[in-house]
Amino acid sequence: MYRIRFHGRGGQGMKTASRILGEAFFLEGFEVQDAQRYGAERRGAPIFAYVRAAKEAIHERGVIARPGLIVVADDTLVAIAAAGVMQGLNEDCVVLIDSAESAAAWAERLNLPGPVIILPAHDTREAGEAAFVGVECAAAAACLAGVISQAYLEEAIRRELAPMGDEVVAQNLGIAADAYAKMEPYAGIVRADGTLSARAYKPPDWVDLPLEGVSLAGPAIYGGVNSELTNTGLWRTMRPVIDLERCNKCSWVCVSSCPDSAIQARADGTPEIDLDHCKGCMLCVAQCPPHAIGAVPETEALAREKAGEPVCAAN
Ligand code: SF4
Ligand code: SF4
Repeated sequence: MYRIRFHGRGGQGMKTASRILGEAFFLEGFEVQDAQRYGAERRGAPIFAYVRAAKEAIHERGVIARPGLIVVADDTLVAIAAAGVMQGLNEDCVVLIDSAESAAAWAERLNLPGPVIILPAHDTREAGEAAFVGVECAAAAACLAGVISQAYLEEAIRRELAPMGDEVVAQNLGIAADAYAKMEPYAGIVRADGTLSARAYKPPDWVDLPLEGVSLAGPAIYGGVNSELTNTGLWRTMRPVIDLERCNKCSWVCVSSCPDSAIQARADGTPEIDLDHCKGCMLCVAQCPPHAIGAVPETEALAREKAGEPVCAAN
């Protein structure tokens, strides 16, 4: 059975990736499960999706504990323990990661026992093309599995993306073909494991449920300085940008509406956004009375910063 987990952030197309891969397996004659697991309900928050595919009926349920392939669409997730990216990693597991760093660097840093492959489209992807990461991941995973033809991959993309129109489908087909072709040297590297059986399982007579202190049971909530240490700015796919010409320095609407307290007002009322902790939920954009806060794709904001240009034309 093929067991594949996709990890990314809300908005990166991990759900689409798992659906495309699941559909492609199905077209190849496999029994398939594909499911998505969401964490916090917000764009940019870590999510994952998983696909099981086998030639026989699949009786396993739930999250994949021992994946054969882990696909990581955002390498900043690796450092976030709660994202569970490396969960169940074993020596046979292949890690495919979208990163500017080398496979050797990741293998050494994380002491990874199995093969590590960098998603090759990374170097050529233009700013603003983050939306295609899911399709790249699905196409690369299809090739790595070694049992999905490009024709069925393309058919799966057509079926899944049809509601988005012909132009989007055509764009994604081109990107998928590129990712699939670049993975050819590794085609078939992902191993299919045997199925697990619960037939020999005997329920215990008694199960002790340990009572834990609240600091153990809810560490994410009660852990000291947890939220400040978590760089939620990495979750952002859209960046709020304040047009100071238009801002009337009310100094409270955006400040009090930010769920992460990432906006502070200076003494004169000018708001400032802490980009290390702004997760890009866009609540402030919706709340500002004079519409002084706009939204810029993070990739575009980074490109403008790199070029030394103002992110907001009016600033
Ligand atoms: S809510 Fe709008 S007008 Fe008020 S301080 Fe924030 S950006 Fe300025
Ligand atoms: S409300 Fe605005 S500043 Fe606060 S996290 Fe959301 S987008 Fe960022």
